[in-house]
Amino acid sequence: MQYIASAPDGTKMPFTISEVRDEDIVIDFNHPLAGKDLTFDVELLNVRDATSEEISHGHVHGVGGQNH
Ligand SMILES: [Zn+2]
Repeated sequence: MQYIASAPDGTKMPFTISEVRDEDIVIDFNHPLAGKDLTFDVELLNVRDATSEEISHGHVHGVGGQNH
C-alpha cells in the first residue's frame, strides 16, 4: 500500500511501508518503478540545431529544457 508524505514546502512524496518491526517501521521512499527495466516507444517529432546560447550553457532551453 502506498502512502503520501508532505514536506514542509508542500512537496508530496509517495512511500511504502516495507517492514513492520516490534518498535519501528521501515519506510521506502524509492519510486515504485525503481530498479525495474522500463521500455518506451518514442516518436521523434522534430529536430533542430542548438542555439548558440544552449551550446554555451551546455543544456537545452524551452519545452522540456531550462526556462531561464
Ligand atoms: Zn541555459
